[in-house]
Amino acid sequence: MTDARLSAAIEARRDDLIRLTQELVQIPTINPPGRRYHEICSYLEARLGRAGFDCKMTRAVGTPGDSHDYPRWNIVARREGKSPGDCVHFNSHTDVVEVGHGWTFDPFGGEVHEGRIYGRGSCDMKGGLAASIIAAEAFLEVCPDFGGAIEISGTADEETGGFGGVAYLAEQGFFDPDKVQHVIIPEPLNKDRICLGHRGVWWAEIETKGRIAHGSMPFLGDSAIRHMGAVLEEMERTLYPLLAGKRTDMPVVPEGAKQSTLNINAIHGGEPEPEPGFTGFPAACVADRCRITIDRRFLIEEDVAEVKAEVSRMLDGIKATRPGFEYEIKDLWEVRPTMTERDAPVVKTVAGAIEKVLARQPDYVVSPGTYDQKHIDRIGRLKNCIAYGPGILDLAHQPDEWVGIDDMVDSAKVMALTLAELLCDGGG
Ligand SMILES: [Zn+2]
Repeated sequence: MTDARLSAAIEARRDDLIRLTQELVQIPTINPPGRRYHEICSYLEARLGRAGFDCKMTRAVGTPGDSHDYPRWNIVARREGKSPGDCVHFNSHTDVVEVGHGWTFDPFGGEVHEGRIYGRGSCDMKGGLAASIIAAEAFLEVCPDFGGAIEISGTADEETGGFGGVAYLAEQGFFDPDKVQHVIIPEPLNKDRICLGHRGVWWAEIETKGRIAHGSMPFLGDSAIRHMGAVLEEMERTLYPLLAGKRTDMPVVPEGAKQSTLNINAIHGGEPEPEPGFTGFPAACVADRCRITIDRRFLIEEDVAEVKAEVSRMLDGIKATRPGFEYEIKDLWEVRPTMTERDAPVVKTVAGAIEKVLARQPDYVVSPGTYDQKHIDRIGRLKNCIAYGPGILDLAHQPDEWVGIDDMVDSAKVMALTLAELLCDGGG
């Protein structure tokens, strides 16, 4: 009975859901540098305040990127029930990545076309944020006497590591297990999939050293770029095959990410790139520095110390045989893999709701890249956390990003049923 009423209450809000998503997309919260966080938090404060939530806006002062021009604002909205009970928290990041090239729609127009809403952030993840708000509002109408609490947060900087967003809030105690018992992150993982966690990541910089000299007499110097060439060759010869052989039992999607991976994110060496518009010629020099940034994704079966040691061993191996080879390796940051158990309460409840709404069993997946679950797990010490939301992951960060309206409606129903099950004596 409650299920049918919740579904009807969501359907009745379809236009509201569309408008809400459009208005969120129309606030261009591009990160970096981290624009318009205050504006989107104020928008959410007004919206959720009308729905009876107590809203708290928090600026993550002093976190990476926080400044007078680009303050890191976050909002946490909480609505208490009539009696004590669990708190269900929906966490969405409000930032979006740069627009990039190749759009045929206005990236911040929020245009509706053939059942889809287009725009940067529509899929990742303003559509999910809107679905969770609609789910909560419909639930409050149908089950006004619920027990426990609902929280909805809009947080900064997920696209750049989440330090000014969820990490900061977790440090302030917002995700302590005595305050919040269930966390759902509406990232775009598809409406019929439950994302249990993510692989680990280690970022580092490797620099090779050389000696500058005149480019007409390179034998008088020592080329850091040639040394880096040796590093890249060794990676191809030994490191990539080694990583390809490491497979995980985590249900990572897509299939290619079920192993360890390494991306060389950037390479820089020798003379800097000329300024745009510069019309001169290069000067003849031997490069005395060359640097690569690596992005190594690792598995729950791997140990981060061993992940690092593999790279050091490879570099030491080159040093032992290559004259003049010197290197330096600098850790940038790392995140441990995380995976919530399949029988955790939030997993079982969302799975049951997916079965009711979509008449099928959910798929359980693990994300190839990290998202804010890492901070909720590590800093907040809260294990009962998943990502679940509308949208197709592959569309994130692409031109002409979109989210399907029917998918948002369906996942809002799943979220509302989940609230009923967790906060209303087994729902209906
Ligand atoms: Zn996202």
